[in-house]
Amino acid sequence: MRIECIAIGTELLTTRRLDTNSVWLGERLADLGLAFHRKTAVGDDRADLAALIREALGRSDLILTTGGLGPTFDDVTKELFAEILGAELVEDAGARAEMLAFYTARNRVPAQSNFKQVLIPAGAEPLRNPVGTAPGVWWQDPTGHPGVRIVMMPGVPREMNRMWEEQVEPRLRSLAGEPTHTLRLVVAGVPESTLDERIREVRERHGHLDWSILASLTQVELLVRSDDPGSLEAVAADLRPVLGDDLVSVGQGNLEEAVLRRLEARGHSLAVAESMTGGLLSARLTAIPGASRAFLGGATVYTEGAKSALLGLSEAFLAEHGTVSAATTTALAEAVRAKLGATWGLAVTGNAGPTAEGPAPLGTVFLAVASPGGTISARRTIHGDRSDVQLRGSGAALDFLRRQLDLVLNY
Ligand code: AMP
Ligand code: MG
Repeated sequence: MRIECIAIGTELLTTRRLDTNSVWLGERLADLGLAFHRKTAVGDDRADLAALIREALGRSDLILTTGGLGPTFDDVTKELFAEILGAELVEDAGARAEMLAFYTARNRVPAQSNFKQVLIPAGAEPLRNPVGTAPGVWWQDPTGHPGVRIVMMPGVPREMNRMWEEQVEPRLRSLAGEPTHTLRLVVAGVPESTLDERIREVRERHGHLDWSILASLTQVELLVRSDDPGSLEAVAADLRPVLGDDLVSVGQGNLEEAVLRRLEARGHSLAVAESMTGGLLSARLTAIPGASRAFLGGATVYTEGAKSALLGLSEAFLAEHGTVSAATTTALAEAVRAKLGATWGLAVTGNAGPTAEGPAPLGTVFLAVASPGGTISARRTIHGDRSDVQLRGSGAALDFLRRQLDLVLNY
């Protein structure tokens, strides 16, 4: 399938706005095993856009557009496609009702120009826009172009993303004969290659399913796809014992969410103390909506002075143990836990480089978890550049805590 993206909007040609839509769409296509063969940004200019539409119709099987669906005079995407393909624009009753409901719900009255938005080319289908007023368009096999599919989506990223996820991607999956259900498992603490070996037997037993492993700096995801939810349940049941403690979660979500869920489930709270991650640990936790139900806060104690002033570690103690050590990290976890009155205290220290000089060898990371049951610490060596060590170090800390939480939960 030859897939082309057209990002429409004059603002994309200046420095005012980056075309992030086509990047996002490219990532979503990659999830489906598909890729663009071409992408273009074009202004709200009738002649330029019309020329591009004609070219695209001649070279692509699937044309994805974003932008130019709004109510104003410069929003001409549907109009030009209809003109070029010789189709009338017809008011869609369902889209009109939804647009009116959108305004009623906000106690507003639509402008005359909003009615232009619910015009859809004859032969095409509207795509619902649950978060805005401009419906999209799904147009399959337009006259004169059998086999071609045109998808017009709004330019506003939030609207485009929802429309893609809820309406475009499912249609493309069924077209491509892609499996409709996905089992997603998040795994931590196991390198991709080791994971591959560990699951081999289960993978071979369920060899007819579609398997993939996606590794990033923050986690490893295992994806299994099938049309049959029952066979995915069977895979999940077979994988659980194989993955053991390394299984973080099943379904949507990530490591930080998994940690917060486990804390929240027991009404526990968390405080963190971090040095070489510089606040990243707190940032990752607070990126999850509702984090405050379990995460109280923490301290970025980057220097010796901060470790003393904020968490009360004495100069003598730091001189004896050094800033990157099991003893110091343990003391930080205990101090932040006491200071904020949290159930759990989590601390991370380390040397993220870039130079080998520092309080410990490059890539050395210490983790500590303080809890009512006592304090435990661990040492890790993490490879990569400065930001890799910081990102992986924060992940190692979250995973270290997650494992302690699972131990408590399982007893
Ligand atoms: P439109 O649907 O053309 O009215 O676009 C509405 C708004 O969405 C624009 O003003 C931009 O802020 C944003 N937008 C449009 N196209 C893109 C794009 N390709 N990437 C990111 N944002 C976009
Ligand atoms: Mg526009």
